Amino acid sequence: NSFDECTLTEIIRDNIELARYSRPTPVQKYAIPIILAKRDLMACAQTGSGKTAAFLVPILNHIYENGPPKDLPEPQKFATCVKQYPLALVLSPTRELACQIYDESSKFAYRSRVKPCVVYGGAEPIQQMKNLDRGCHLLVATPGRLIDMMERGKISLELVKYLVLDEADRMLDMGFEPQIHRIVLEHNMPPTGNRLTLMFSATFPKKVQELARKFLDNYIFLAV
Ligand code: AMP
Repeated sequence: NSFDECTLTEIIRDNIELARYSRPTPVQKYAIPIILAKRDLMACAQTGSGKTAAFLVPILNHIYENGPPKDLPEPQKFATCVKQYPLALVLSPTRELACQIYDESSKFAYRSRVKPCVVYGGAEPIQQMKNLDRGCHLLVATPGRLIDMMERGKISLELVKYLVLDEADRMLDMGFEPQIHRIVLEHNMPPTGNRLTLMFSATFPKKVQELARKFLDNYIFLAV
């Protein structure tokens, strides 16, 4: 019943403490070890359950363990770099949720070289592109704006090792299925097996099950 039971690197333990999370919530308690063990996961979890940290903590831990991303320049040197190659991609149905996930990722990426970024529709893309130019290792995105950024040549999914579909049921309800397919299957993202894929959903209807079958590899099902 403590984060100490998971083997987490020092920087993430410090940042969990700074965020004043003293005990893992149930979804964190079960999901973090599964993700640390590099298993694909389909988790049924509601908003407010702590699901965001349940995927961010182990993903950032993996990234920290592998050391600072070597094939990417130092953040300060990004000014002239046009295309970003995030290592982790989190898809979210709404701008509000995307911003919440981004805020949470900033807490856990604090004092590390890992740079989180967020892009979402309904706002001018210019500022979001400027933010991307400072570096992007973990990208939180709504599907439409992500496709827009890829078409502008600002983002490549070639190096994505961690893919999260958050609130998958809501994304499908909002009609994002074609966009999700394009992002995962048509934009040179590493295939299932060469990436870790995590799905979170409050409900588990047939359409979500089908998506899980399509995108996840030998996955663990978790209901909390
Ligand atoms: P989520 O379900 O991820 O949207 O999280 C709901 C809220 O709970 C957010 O404000 C988190 O910052 C907070 N939270 C998540 N995990 C913990 C924890 N282990 N201890 C305290 N607060 C938490």
